Amino acid sequence: MARRLAPQQPSIRHLLAVNDGFVLSEIDPRRVLAGPKDKDAARTEIAALAPKVAALQEMLWAEAKRGATRRVVVVLQGTDTSGKGGATRLVDSLLDPAGLAVTGFGKPTPEELRRHFLWRFEQRLPRPGTVAVFDRSYYEDVLVVRVNRLVSERTWKPRYQRINDWEAALVDEGVSFVKVMLYISADEQRERLLARLADPTKQWKYNPGDVDERAKWSAYAEAYQDALTRCSTPAAPWYVVPADRKWHRDWLLAHLLHETLAALAPAYPAPDYDVAHETARVAAS
Ligand code: ATP
Repeated sequence: MARRLAPQQPSIRHLLAVNDGFVLSEIDPRRVLAGPKDKDAARTEIAALAPKVAALQEMLWAEAKRGATRRVVVVLQGTDTSGKGGATRLVDSLLDPAGLAVTGFGKPTPEELRRHFLWRFEQRLPRPGTVAVFDRSYYEDVLVVRVNRLVSERTWKPRYQRINDWEAALVDEGVSFVKVMLYISADEQRERLLARLADPTKQWKYNPGDVDERAKWSAYAEAYQDALTRCSTPAAPWYVVPADRKWHRDWLLAHLLHETLAALAPAYPAPDYDVAHETARVAAS
């Protein structure tokens, strides 16, 4: 009798990737796209995935010790309260901190503004074998900068191509990008901002300027649509994660990270010494 095969889980990378014809407004931020339908089951599955992610990270690190250059950059973008902090904590919980560096990018300093807009990100690229998380990124240079007209259109428009060229060159040097846009609805953002204001332990996270940015929702949506579609390349695709439900966001992110590392197929390097000989020496010592 034919054995019934377990239903195949579709590739999460495939499910979330921004492809030709992508329209951001057609994405439902509350939708559960795949996997468990509730929080507890999602948490259980993430915990089961964690050792697999850790093993892949260790192999990536071990390879780098022998000169491999592969490394991973996780780019997190999204409006205020979209969960970039929560997403960072998730990545943190899955990876060994020794091979992970998280950088939050706020407004550029006057010194940074004097340099090329990609300069400060170049400084924070991961070392071979490690993972870097960018909490906001050079995409702000075609998002907040464009929406608030901080530079002229003549300056921001060529940046899409610059970004694509820069990312492609880094991919050639061994960098894998996981570019994630955390997509929440305007209603969910209102709830999250109100929750911050109602909780004395969260009021410090509230910034009155967030409401001014919120008023520009449609301008941001337009800028995101352009950034996502112009800069989703085969070498460095964008992934849009529906993020109204935090547990589903985390489940998707854990799978994105796992799939990305698994696709690199890192392997422990063979020892460059004679194992039997060394075993005998240690035993005799
Ligand atoms: P977050 O909202 O990400 O939690 P925050 O409110 O604590 O962060 P910071 O992390 O200090 O503030 O800075 C984030 C702010 O910096 C955001 O408002 C973002 O739009 C802004 N920013 C980032 N890059 C640029 C840029 N290139 N030009 C202008 N503003 C930028």
